[in-house]
Amino acid sequence: MTQAMNIVVIEDNPMHARLIERLLLGVRQAQYQVQVAGDLATGIAAVEEGGVDLVLLDLMLPDSEGLDSFLRLRSRIDPVPIVILTSMDDMELASHAVESGAQDYLVKGQITGELLSRAVRYAIERVRARAEEWRSPMLRLAHQQFLKAAQIIRLEDNLRQRLLFPQRSQVVTLSYRRDEYTQVETVFGYRVQHVLTMGPTKGGVRFHHGVNLGEVTALAMWMTWKCALMHLPFGGAKGGVRVDPGALSKQELQRLSRRYTAEIIDMIGPDKDIPAPDMGTNEQVMAWMMDTYSEQKGYAVPTVVTGKPVVLGGSKGRKEATGQGVVYVVEEAARDRGWDLSERTAVVQGFGNVGYHAARFLSELGVKVRAVSDVEGGVYREDGLDIEGLARHVEEAGTVVGFEGADRVTNQELLEIPCDVLVPAALENQITARNAGELRCRLIAEGANGPTTTEADEILADRGITVLPDLLANAGGVTVSYFEWVQGTQNMMWSLKEVNQRLRQLLQRAYRRVVDRAEAGGTDLRTAALIAGVERVCEAKLIRGLFP
Ligand code: NAD
Repeated sequence: MTQAMNIVVIEDNPMHARLIERLLLGVRQAQYQVQVAGDLATGIAAVEEGGVDLVLLDLMLPDSEGLDSFLRLRSRIDPVPIVILTSMDDMELASHAVESGAQDYLVKGQITGELLSRAVRYAIERVRARAEEWRSPMLRLAHQQFLKAAQIIRLEDNLRQRLLFPQRSQVVTLSYRRDEYTQVETVFGYRVQHVLTMGPTKGGVRFHHGVNLGEVTALAMWMTWKCALMHLPFGGAKGGVRVDPGALSKQELQRLSRRYTAEIIDMIGPDKDIPAPDMGTNEQVMAWMMDTYSEQKGYAVPTVVTGKPVVLGGSKGRKEATGQGVVYVVEEAARDRGWDLSERTAVVQGFGNVGYHAARFLSELGVKVRAVSDVEGGVYREDGLDIEGLARHVEEAGTVVGFEGADRVTNQELLEIPCDVLVPAALENQITARNAGELRCRLIAEGANGPTTTEADEILADRGITVLPDLLANAGGVTVSYFEWVQGTQNMMWSLKEVNQRLRQLLQRAYRRVVDRAEAGGTDLRTAALIAGVERVCEAKLIRGLFP
C-alpha cells in the first residue's frame, strides 16, 4: 500500500471542510490523512509541524482575506504545494493566487472526489518534479499564461490538465570528444513534444548552459500555441542541450550536434517531428543534423529539419524570417496607430539571428535604431546606428561592443532608452516587475520567447505600453520553416519574393485575428493570442476524440 498523503484543509466553513474531508477519505486510488484548520494561524502552525504534503486553502478566513491569505501562507510554508478552494464569485481572485504561485484552484460547488484527488496528486507531483529538472522560470511563466487563458475561456478541466505537461519528452545524456583527444564531456539533452494532435510536431533546438527539461517544455508549449495561432498544421516541440556553445570549437560543436541527433533519432522525422534552429544553433547545425539522420536512413532526407542551408533544400528567406516577421508585425501595429515608421526610433536587445535581422529590416524602413546589445553589452547612437557597419564590426570583433562612433551602454540601460519600438531579441525574463516601470518605449515587439513576465505585463498595460506578444511577433521563423517543409515535401522551390509575400500575408491575418479578439474580449494581445491558439488545439482534440 502506498503511503498516505497528509493534507491540511484551511477552511472556516465547517460544512465545506467536512465535505472535502469526506471526499478525500472516500477516494479509492489514494490514501489521505486530513487535518482541518478553521483559520490561517492554526493552518500555518499545522503545516510547520512538518510532514504535510499539500494544503487546500480557502482565501476568505476569519484572520486573513483574499490574496493576502495565500501570500502569508506561501511565505511560511514554501515549498509545500497549495491548492485554492474558491467559490464561483471569487474565481478571479483564485486565478491571481495561481499566477502568484499556487498550484491550482478548485471551485467548491463543482468538486467531486475524483477531481479533488486528481488536483491534489497533480499538484504534489508538479512541485516534486519542478524541484528538479522542471524548475524553470520559463515553465512557470508558460503555466501562468496558459492558466490565465484557460480561466478566461472557462476551459474544461480535462483539457486544462492534459495541456499543462507535454505528451512526450525524452531526456538523454550524450558524450562528445573534446579536441584534446583524451577528454570526453557528458551533457544533458532533451526533446519534448507537447501536443501530437495537430500533425507532426515542430520546434527549434537550443544549445545553452541554462537549458533543462522545464525550459524546453515551456518553449514546446509556446510552439503549440504559436503554430495554432498561425494555422500551421503542427503541434509544438522543442529540443536542447545544456552546454555553452561559445566554449566549443567548430569540430566539437559538430560532434555534439551529430551525437545529439543520434540520441533523439527515434523521435524525429519528416512526418513525426521536425527540428529547426534556436538560440545557439544555426544553419550549419541543421546541416549536421540532416546529414546524421540521412546517414542512418541510407538516403538523403532534407525534410527532417528546417532552417538548413539553401543548397541542401533550405528555403530562401528562412534565415532572416524571424526578424523579418517581427518587422512585418510592427508595420501592422504602426499602420493601426497612424505612425510613419521613417520618423520613428527603435532599440533592439540581442544581435544574433533575430536581433540582427529585426534591426536590419527596421533600419531599411527608415527607423532610427538607436541602440543594440549582445551578451557583452550594448552600443548607443542617438541619431541611429549603421546596422550593416555594425554587422561587419561584429564579424571581426565578435561583439557589438567597441563599435566606432557609438557610446557604450549596459543591457539594463539599453532597455530604458527612450524609443517608439523596443525589440527584446535575446533571452527570456528580461522585462520584469523590477524594470517595467522604467521602460520608455511605446510598443514592445517580442523577438525572443518569454522576455516579459506576467507581473511586468500588468505594469506595462497600466502604463499604456502595447506588447506585440512572442506568439505573434516571432512567428515568422516557424512560418517560413513550414514553407520550407512544404517545398521539401513537394520538391519545389519558391522565390524569396513568394516566401516574403506569403509570410506577410499569414502574419497580417494572424495580427488581425489577435487584435480583433483582444478588442472583443477586452484582453491584452498576449492573452488574445494565447486564447486563439488554445481554442484551436482544444477543438482539434475534441473532434479527434480520446483513444481508446
Ligand atoms: P542567437 O543565439 O542567434 O542570438 C542571441 C543573441 O542574444 C546574441 O546576440 C547574444 O549575444 C545575445 N544575448 C545572450 N545573452 C544575453 C544577455 N544576457 N543580454 C543581452 N544579450 C544577450 O539566438 P536567436 O536565434 O536570435 O534567438 C534569440 C531569441 O529569439 C530566443 O529567445 C529564441 O528562442 C527566439 N526565437 C528565435 C527564432 C529563430 O528562428 N532563430 C525563432 C523564434 C524565436
